[in-house]
Amino acid sequence: MKEILDKQRAFFNSHATKSIQFRRKQLKTLQRALKENEAALHQAIYKDFKKSEFDNYTTEISLLYRDIKEARMNIFKWARRKNVSTGVLNFPASSFIVPEPLGVCLVIGAWNYPYQLSFAPVIAAIAAGNTVVLKPSELPSNTAAAMAKIVKEYFDPAFFTVVEGGVDETQELLKQKFDKIFFTGSTKVGKIVYKAAAENLIPVTLELGGKSPAIVTESCNLKISVKRLVWGKFLNAGQTCIAPDYVLVHKSIEQKFLEQTKQEIISQHFAYENDNFLQIINEQNFDRLTEMLDQKKIFFGGEHKKETRYIQPTIMQNVTLEDPVMQEEIFGPILPVIAYNTIEEAISIVNSLPKPLSCYVFTKRDSIKKKVLKEVSFGGGAINDTVMHITNSHLPFGGVGHSGIGSYHGEAGFKAFTHYKSVMDKPTWLDPSIRYYPHTAFRLKLMRWFLKF
Ligand code: NAD
Repeated sequence: MKEILDKQRAFFNSHATKSIQFRRKQLKTLQRALKENEAALHQAIYKDFKKSEFDNYTTEISLLYRDIKEARMNIFKWARRKNVSTGVLNFPASSFIVPEPLGVCLVIGAWNYPYQLSFAPVIAAIAAGNTVVLKPSELPSNTAAAMAKIVKEYFDPAFFTVVEGGVDETQELLKQKFDKIFFTGSTKVGKIVYKAAAENLIPVTLELGGKSPAIVTESCNLKISVKRLVWGKFLNAGQTCIAPDYVLVHKSIEQKFLEQTKQEIISQHFAYENDNFLQIINEQNFDRLTEMLDQKKIFFGGEHKKETRYIQPTIMQNVTLEDPVMQEEIFGPILPVIAYNTIEEAISIVNSLPKPLSCYVFTKRDSIKKKVLKEVSFGGGAINDTVMHITNSHLPFGGVGHSGIGSYHGEAGFKAFTHYKSVMDKPTWLDPSIRYYPHTAFRLKLMRWFLKF
């Protein structure tokens, strides 16, 4: 690990990555690497958990193409030095902010969108002028191997390399003196990363998880709301960090909501046999999820098969906060439904749990939108939709509290890997003596006059 880091540090210190042309070229190389290996990348992810070509393109690869294009287009603007005002106190002088790369960066990926969650932070790090060590999640072993192979083929390891491995390798990496750690994963491991980073005062971005609520009010368009909710929940078989984890539905429409959700699941044809539905990533997660299923509370679904790691999209009703399904982030195709009587009650349920990564509210009423935005703290979210806010790179993406620290996507990603160096440039032709020693009563008088803000 140390050898990799030493090589990258030497390369960073050569200042090669500070050239905008260099960064744009490397981003173009990544684009080419992805394009020329799209079929291999798809085969690998299909082997790992049966992700279809449609899903692989729309939720992984196309987002990376977009990020690369956007970074290449905006990099001159983002990396430009910015002049700011100076004020009369320092006259004559000019002040400016210089964006500078942090240095040698570590990106640790999660497994659920393995390509997107590994390469999107890498794109931001490269755009900002850093070198990168990527540690993808070891759980989808074929995708991790595919990424390692491609990166080795297209990049100089002194600039960008992949380290494969699990907990031991990650722990070893965390002992190294990186200049930035960008971590995507669970809150539990996020704390381990944060502690390790603190040892060397390394800045972190932590993209974590949590229980993201969806509040379905009586004033919503139920048909569209259910459609968007079902899509966002069962996309990737529920293994999405911003999937609606549970639904709070107004008591007056509870039965209608349950019935329509069931019909919508049926009509979207989520089945193991077709390519509309993914497998659960591994047996450990399969067991964890099936233990959450309470037969007495299943309204629809509940079928599961260990040999194929398939869990049918499932709706649970009459759920309480004490049920196992409400004790941790579900991260699978189980949708608990809790009825509420007033919007205040729904908000207080959400606020009784740690701050979520996302929050969704379905309503046509502006007063409810405003109330939820004012009274609930969450990373990001959508009104009358689920998940789609992630596709707008003008919206910084990240959590708050237990769901994360910092954000990325678009310019926010560039900022996550950049230090903003503040500089004042002073000429020497004027040098008022007022601040210098020895201080006098007259000078103090002048200072009082000068500094009365
Ligand atoms: P995880 O925390 O188990 O693993 C993430 C990474 O940490 C992996 O690369 C893994 O190798 C490494 N790791 C695991 N245990 C470790 C340890 N003890 N010490 C050091 N490193 C360790 O997370 P996961 O299962 O891959 O992903 C699921 C979680 O990630 C969910 O909570 C989900 O909400 C969250 N997530 C968040 C985002 C986001 O953008 N905020 C995106 C996807 C997933």
